[in-house]
Amino acid sequence: MRPSRHALLWLALPLAAMAGTSQAVASPKVVATFSILGDLVAQVGGDDIRLVTLTPPGAEVHEWELTPNNFIALEDAKLVFYNGYQLEQWMRQVHATVGNQAPLVPLAEASEYPTLPIVTGDYSGEPDPHLWMDPRAAAAYVQVIAETLAELHPDAADNFHARAETARDILAALHKEITKILADIPEEQRLLITSEAAFVYFADAYGFRHDGIWGTNAETEGSPQQMMRIIDLVNEAQPASLFWESTISDRYVSSIASDTGLAVSGPLYVDSLSEPDGEAANYVSLMKHNASLIRTALLGDEEIADDKEEDHESRDEEDEEKDDEKSDSEA
Ligand SMILES: [Zn+2]
Repeated sequence: MRPSRHALLWLALPLAAMAGTSQAVASPKVVATFSILGDLVAQVGGDDIRLVTLTPPGAEVHEWELTPNNFIALEDAKLVFYNGYQLEQWMRQVHATVGNQAPLVPLAEASEYPTLPIVTGDYSGEPDPHLWMDPRAAAAYVQVIAETLAELHPDAADNFHARAETARDILAALHKEITKILADIPEEQRLLITSEAAFVYFADAYGFRHDGIWGTNAETEGSPQQMMRIIDLVNEAQPASLFWESTISDRYVSSIASDTGLAVSGPLYVDSLSEPDGEAANYVSLMKHNASLIRTALLGDEEIADDKEEDHESRDEEDEEKDDEKSDSEA
């Protein structure tokens, strides 16, 4: 699949950030806890900040332990962005390292985006931390990132707000595109069963029922009780496929699939981007990859009604032509 214009626009900012060095000296060091937040912060911060992301792609973000390099990164950090709602169980260690030298900003909590409860397990009923899986919540993160960076580095405030506006436009378009990708899946197939039940916001945004073997990676993973509960559910609901996630072994989901005779699809990306040369190298690619994979798994290999996208593009071209005509007539 060729990358859409949105994905290209989204990529353009970090590349530009690498090219710019003139302000490097004045740029404050900003830390993000994991790769997805790192990407959102990079889109807004551009070359006006020096960004360090603590956990590498593929890492387990719920239960990370700070590495020697993490301690070095935190030593002169001016700001730390994290998700909050207990996602990063290791924030106490970060706080102990940073002390009062830098504010710690929980993006999910500060966004005040409405939360949904964790659906199963030990933490059932507490706010689920995976808000970023709805692009509209990610846009709310972007707003907080821009406001916080503008306060930290007022000289670059206009840049932060301008980049945030671009990012929010891309996220709004992404939300529409995902809605379109998933639109043809019939009601009875709209069931998303994963290892960690981390898709509550995604499921709510796009009209899926959702469950997982366990509620959050902060608890025991794959206990006999958890496995028995989900096998009962799967036997009753008979979904077209089960899904596994990039940061979790597929063995739990695969064992349920072999017990129940169902298909397994993956990986979905939720707690981490892929490696830079992978299929989910940034937030926009991640969301589109997940949507396409879910569509294919639940619907078979039918082509997405691509004419809709082409309609959209040709309309843009027409608009550009009109603009040209307009400027011609003005000239
Ligand atoms: Zn998670």
